Formats: sequence, structure tokens, C-alpha cells
Amino acid sequence: MKIAVIPGDGIGPEVIKQACKVLDKISQIFNIEFELKEVLMGGIAIDRTGVPLPEETLDECKKSDAVLLGAVGGWKWDSLPGRLRPEAGLLGLRKGLGVFANLRPAMLFPQLKSASTLKEEVLGDGLNIMVVRELTGGIYFGQRGRRDISGGQEAWDTEAYTSMEIERVARLAFEISGKRQCKLTSVDKANVLESSRLWREVVCQVAKEYPDITVNHMYVDNAAMQLIRNPRQFDVIVTSNMFGDILSDEASMLTGSLGMLPSASLGEGTLGLYEPIHGSAPDIAGQDKANPIATILSVAMMLRYSFQLEAAAAAVEAAVCRVLDKGYRTADIMQPGMILTGTEQMGDLVVDEIC
Ligand code: NAD
Repeated sequence: MKIAVIPGDGIGPEVIKQACKVLDKISQIFNIEFELKEVLMGGIAIDRTGVPLPEETLDECKKSDAVLLGAVGGWKWDSLPGRLRPEAGLLGLRKGLGVFANLRPAMLFPQLKSASTLKEEVLGDGLNIMVVRELTGGIYFGQRGRRDISGGQEAWDTEAYTSMEIERVARLAFEISGKRQCKLTSVDKANVLESSRLWREVVCQVAKEYPDITVNHMYVDNAAMQLIRNPRQFDVIVTSNMFGDILSDEASMLTGSLGMLPSASLGEGTLGLYEPIHGSAPDIAGQDKANPIATILSVAMMLRYSFQLEAAAAAVEAAVCRVLDKGYRTADIMQPGMILTGTEQMGDLVVDEIC
């Protein structure tokens, strides 16, 4: 199984190193061979090649079975023009890989309940919501413009979806629901928007192929409210690009720390892009302070979604749980009475717990 590894900038290389140790342990225990190839992207690529996403990097990623990314960006490159900034590499990579669905699990480990802004009774035993966001259509890619009108200007953006775009992301969400609690919430604004009415029609159509999955439809304003009021009612949420952008941030913040949250971006085949949701955290880079768990859990997602290695994915997640149970915490999730660990030690602790 070929994995293109992009350490990137800031804390990227530090957290990726821990994720690679995890892959190594999985390889030994489950007797699977991973072929890792490190490639350049982001600020480091700008420094060495002049562009944030060199062609060789994209080629290598396309030839791989999965891509593991740390994070890109940093103060050093902040004054460059947009298309030459590290983040442009990220957009180019997503586009080049043809990934159209972004999966963001919002998991709150019971051990970290106090990190959430919600009351303990609302959180129950913890949270585990998967937001599936359409990534390449909708208003972020629709026609936009401005024109002068009497007394000022007018600006517009267009939310447009084809049934094909909705169908492929809906199908993926149904498949994911089938691997979880068989409960899917489709979020739209069908009481107002025509694009949402098409969204709902297509989701209902696809639902006929998945009779075991319970589907409900929710307006986006209600979904935003329900995530705060009773987040445990959700298992998988599927929604459009803009609604997903907002709801996935809201859902992830229910869990408290950026350093704990993985993500996956998937397309038609099994090739996926796996990365923590956090950035390159230049403020703590090189200090052994970064929490590597988000990247380690991204590896678990890779094992599950690109390699169909459910047992290996579950082994990584269980190892993270056991390390938290034993009281080890990086600085971002530190609580009184717990044991403070650095990036390297946290990586080693998780590796030791994988069985
Ligand atoms: P950030 O996520 O890097 O950091 C926000 C805060 O969270 C910082 O205080 C940081 O120290 C902390 N933090 C983040 N990850 C952590 C971890 N694993 N462990 C402990 N603490 C952690 O966001 P930012 O500061 O807005 O952005 C910094 C740079 O990262 C910018 O150049 C930005 O463009 C880039 N960025 C990249 C990505 C990506 O590569 N996917 C995503 C977001 C931001």
C-alpha cells in the first residue's frame, strides 16, 4: 500500500513523525506492508522549488493509495501573493486528487469532557458525530459577480448543484452510515432554496438503495441549534459545501481541542487525503508541544476508508483511548492531576498501546 507523506511546515513534520511510527507498528502487528514516500508541499516546497505544490508531488500523490498530510503554512510565507502561498498547494492538491467529500468526525473522548463548552449532562458518554461535507460544488464554486447599480453596487454568488454532484456525496454518506449506526441526517434549506429542494429529492432517491439506513432531513438553522441542544441525536450528517463548512466547525468545537480532530477527503476511488484539521501552529513548532493525536487518528481513518482495514483502525483508536485513560495529556488538553507529555512521548505511548 503506497502512501505519499507530506510533512509540510511548522508542527507538520513533528506530528507526521508520530503518525509514521503508528503505521510502522500497525505494519508489524497486522503483517501489512506500507510503502511510504515523503514529498514536498507548502512553505518548505516554496523555499526549495519556488512553488507550493511541485508537479512531482501531485504526480506522486496521484500514484499512491493514500496521502497523509501534516499541515502547511507559516508567518514566513504570509506576505506572498495568494497563488504562491502554502495554502494554495492544499487547494491544488484537493483539486488534483478529485476529492469531493470531506469527512470530519467530531469525537469527544469521555476522558476529555471538561474540555467541551457544553454541560456534562448534554454530552453524556461523549460525542461521535461524522460530518460529510460536499467539497467541490455549491456556492464556493458557483458564478459570482458585482455590478454598479444606482446608489451603490450589487454583488451575487450562486449556489448551484447538479443531481450527479449530490448523488455521489449522498451515496458516500450512506455507505459511511452503514459502517456506523445506520442513522443519517441530511441538512438543507429546502423550505427556501431550489438547490436544497433538488438536494432533498436526490437524497430521498439514493435512500431507496439503502433500506437499512434511517434518514431524516433537517433545515440548516435547526441543525445548528440541535448540535448545541442535543448533539447526541446525530450520527452521520451529510450536507452541502457551505453548510458543511459551518456545521463541521461548530461540531468540532463541541469537542474542545483542535489537536484531537482528524479528517479525510475522499473521491470516487479509494484514494483519500488524510490530515488533522489543525494548521501548522507556528507558535509551538519545534518545541515538542504539539498534540499528535489528530494526525494519528487521521491514520486510523486512512486504514478504515482507503485500505478497508477496520481492525487496524479500531486498534489505533483504542490505543489513543487507553493512553488518555492512563492520564497522559499534551499541553493543549492538560487538566489538573494528569501527566504532561510532549509530542514524541505521546507518539511512543500510543504506539506501545497498539495491540
Ligand atoms: P492553527 O490550527 O495552526 O493553530 C491555532 C491554535 O491552536 C494555535 O494556538 C496552535 O498552537 C494550536 N494548535 C493547533 N494544532 C495544535 C496541536 N496539534 N497541538 C497543540 N496545539 C495546537 O491555526 P492558525 O494559527 O490559524 O494557522 C497557522 C498556520 O496554519 C497558517 O499559516 C494557516 O494558514 C495554516 N493552516 C493550515 C491548515 C492546513 O494545512 N490544513 C489548516 C489551517 C491553517
